[in-house]
Amino acid sequence: MRLVAVSKTHGAEAVDEARGAGVRIFGENRIQEAAIKIEQCGSAEWHFIGHLQRNKVKVAVSLFSMIHSVDSVPLLEAVAECMEATGCRPALLMEVNVAGDGAKFGFKPDAVPEALRRAAELGVAISGFMTMPPFALTAEAARPHFRRLRELRDVWQEGCAFDLGELSMGMSHDFEVAIEEGATLVRVGTALFGERGKPQR
Ligand SMILES: *Cc1c(COP(=O)(O)O)cnc(C)c1O
Repeated sequence: MRLVAVSKTHGAEAVDEARGAGVRIFGENRIQEAAIKIEQCGSAEWHFIGHLQRNKVKVAVSLFSMIHSVDSVPLLEAVAECMEATGCRPALLMEVNVAGDGAKFGFKPDAVPEALRRAAELGVAISGFMTMPPFALTAEAARPHFRRLRELRDVWQEGCAFDLGELSMGMSHDFEVAIEEGATLVRVGTALFGERGKPQR
């Protein structure tokens, strides 16, 4: 299990301090903010965890070693094209909207097998899945969503040529539950860095 320290809205000093304490992987959700921080901070492993706009894909594939949030087939196609064009090969996770909640980004579970086939056609490997459960007041409320994603993954793994080993799930208030349900990556911001202010420009 690896910790992704979600450093969005926090400055380079916060990242440096966390690195000093042994944190290796940082998560960001805005390309512009991340690009500045990555340049200021030098070597660390950077993961993109936000909704990715099509016009930012080329920058994203060159800045990040993992993109957790491939959330549609058109985005997958754009990522494949930019990986081909740049030679950059970030690891890719598909974001799954386990609850089928209409307001959220992510693949509906039913759409995942077809998206995996499309990834195979495009020649881009998928390393696993990410999910954000609906907002809830208790960590236990998230458990069925985390468990469901692991169970779905086990089904999708059958007959899929990719190793779908990664499960990115769990944030500050529910990462312990996510780990119990099989998370391989937890994305923790507030519990490490404190409350966030306004996003940095
Ligand atoms: C901000 C964010 C997190 C971290 O949330 P915290 O509650 O601060 O730990 C995790 N995942 C995603 C996708 C985020 O945008």
